[in-house]
Amino acid sequence: MTKIAIAIHGGAGTLVKGMMTPEKETEYKQALQFALDAGYEMLENGGSSLDAVEKAVQELENSHLFNAGKGSVFTSTETHEMDASIMDGKSLNAGAVSLITGIKNPVSLARDVMDKTEHVFLAGNGAMEFAKELNYKIENPEYFYDDFRHNQWLEIKDTDSFQLDHSTKKDSKFGTVGAVALDEHGNIAAATSTGGMTNKKYGRVGDSPMIGAGNYANNETCAVSCTGSGEYFIRGVVAYDVACLMEHKGLSLEEATKEVIQKRILKIGGDGGLIAIDTQGNISLEFNTEGMYRGSKNSEGLDSVEIYK
Ligand code: ASP
Repeated sequence: MTKIAIAIHGGAGTLVKGMMTPEKETEYKQALQFALDAGYEMLENGGSSLDAVEKAVQELENSHLFNAGKGSVFTSTETHEMDASIMDGKSLNAGAVSLITGIKNPVSLARDVMDKTEHVFLAGNGAMEFAKELNYKIENPEYFYDDFRHNQWLEIKDTDSFQLDHSTKKDSKFGTVGAVALDEHGNIAAATSTGGMTNKKYGRVGDSPMIGAGNYANNETCAVSCTGSGEYFIRGVVAYDVACLMEHKGLSLEEATKEVIQKRILKIGGDGGLIAIDTQGNISLEFNTEGMYRGSKNSEGLDSVEIYK
């Protein structure tokens, strides 16, 4: 059997052991395992890496625990604005959406942009118009309401600050979700989805929907999904930087992800992490924060979900 593999993340941040109750920790691990298994099952049944990353991200978006889809953080106007992207390493096709509201699974809208339009990136009203044309159901704000998220927002709503979901020391709800996968045909793909940052304003968009910054896939090198301080990940063109180090400097997946996350992004002041895979099925789960919700599974017996360093 050809090797198949998948990795997922549910955000990186100040995740310190002992910070969460054992019950909470179990809840997170179960949600991660559920998404990991759902994506892996796609691959086992002959699905493409694109199908697998979309499925895994949908499951993470459906959980209230992660800052994407249902669990998205509040903007400065008490709404939810979500961003997502997906990329196919075989064709280099990509789709992305940003500033969308009411959509249960932003990753699927990004996939539809890729599959059903000539464009790569649709934003705001236009993206919503596209969703309506495709008969997407628009969920009520209640679907996205969560007490914890609301309190997070209430604390800073009258200030100019906006908060990276990962940075909170108080609780354990960290942000952004993503998946990378290798299918039986040797193709890789990446998907990323986020609610962004609490109290964000002015139509702020982070790295998650930006191809090359928060998400990238190319069969020649690797597939990458990032999480962290988006403003820095955009400036570092992080996902593409990993691919470039492999292509132009001949670094391995592990060397390239370490170089970017442990050196380059830190040097410009960014924190966070990424998950990456290559066509050999090598997986890298690299982060420079105290923890990252993550999981990986392959056809050689790997099956793991972890939170802390
Ligand atoms: N990178 C995301 C953003 O800046 C946030 C995150 O990863 O939690 O929107």
